[in-house]
Amino acid sequence: MTKILCVANQKGGVGKTTTTVNLAAALAQLGQRILVVDLDPQGNATSGSGIDKHSLTFGVYHVLLQTAGVAEARVSSPSGGYDLLGANRELAGAEVELVGLERRERRLEQALSKVQSEYDFILLDCPPSLSLLTLNGLCCANGVVVPMQCEYFALEGLSDLVNTIKQVHANLNRSLQITGLLRVMFDPRITLQQQVSDQLQSHFAEKVFSTVIPRNVRLAEAPSHGLPGVVFDPTSKGALAFTEFAKELIQRTSTV
Ligand code: ADP
Ligand code: MG
Repeated sequence: MTKILCVANQKGGVGKTTTTVNLAAALAQLGQRILVVDLDPQGNATSGSGIDKHSLTFGVYHVLLQTAGVAEARVSSPSGGYDLLGANRELAGAEVELVGLERRERRLEQALSKVQSEYDFILLDCPPSLSLLTLNGLCCANGVVVPMQCEYFALEGLSDLVNTIKQVHANLNRSLQITGLLRVMFDPRITLQQQVSDQLQSHFAEKVFSTVIPRNVRLAEAPSHGLPGVVFDPTSKGALAFTEFAKELIQRTSTV
């Protein structure tokens, strides 16, 4: 069965896009069939996959407004080895245009249902908000992967996200669950990060992935080359960690 996973955290700059793009490429390298959906008008997952976001003919925007289907709107990311439904600033308008339309939170689910059997994983890169775009993602996902930095305020924000997930689970999507929390940009030399990491583990137990993504400059450099980090420098610590994470995710999602 296809696993549809939201990569979500309402904070910006916490590593959602880096996680989405690298996880997608690592899963593809492991032979999985992957579609990435860029749900953020910033279009970072799109450009980070080597696609020029300004020259997109169709993208998520058109799919949500039903002026194109996923089959015609998707493009392939040659560098990543996966398919991509891209985004650019235009997507910001969808939010407004969807208000007032019926079943507006189900648009993505409806569109993906036509192609999802072609993929093993569909990864949704969410914007830094709990908006209608994120809600479209949560309504069609089976799981949420939450990247987080081990900082004090990270825990505070987490309870909002967990509450939103609970509400969507109760009212809109019974199959939604938290797949796991992923510690990213981790620096073991920083005591506070160790402490928050320990707190996370005692609070969320097995919901915390065992793989930890280290802070690694190669992951930050990769997008400017239009490449996922796991392709840009496969032997870097960051790339190796994402490959480990991809394996852990395959295992975790095959047992549920
Ligand atoms: P988000 O999508 O949540 O806004 P990004 O994935 O764009 O976050 O990451 C924010 C910034 O941090 C980007 O500049 C990215 O290159 C950098 N970054 C993300 N993960 C790492 C990491 N593990 N090591 C170093 N830099 C990282
Ligand atoms: Mg992002």
